[in-house]
Amino acid sequence: MKNKPLVDRVYKYKNKDRNFFCPLCRTERNVTTSPRLTKKNIVQITLTSIMIAAALYPLVGVNGGVVFFAVWGFFELAIRSDYKKQIACPHCGFDATSYKRDVRVARQQVADFWAQKQGVTPSVSEASAKRT
Ligand SMILES: [Zn+2]
Repeated sequence: MKNKPLVDRVYKYKNKDRNFFCPLCRTERNVTTSPRLTKKNIVQITLTSIMIAAALYPLVGVNGGVVFFAVWGFFELAIRSDYKKQIACPHCGFDATSYKRDVRVARQQVADFWAQKQGVTPSVSEASAKRT
């Protein structure tokens, strides 16, 4: 049974953004967030920056408009970190985002995941020795 997924019965999210199969263990996966900003997020960014700019108006005047870019950056970071949290496979520990950046890091994460699952905490010296 080589093509059998690791976990057959998985929890299905109601408002999922997309579903896919884990490339390592073939388990069906769902994520509820998207790494891109939605229309709702753009409205939130606009309203938040208007509020902050209005609060800062007595101090900086119309220059408070630059706060929009700071709020935008903050939202972008928050949404990406939320997505990254969901993309890692809870069944085998495979993280596609770190695989894309560095394959060795992703391999180490999967190894650490299985070591932790078996009740062994990987030593820090061992992990850093493998990287060099
Ligand atoms: Zn997996």
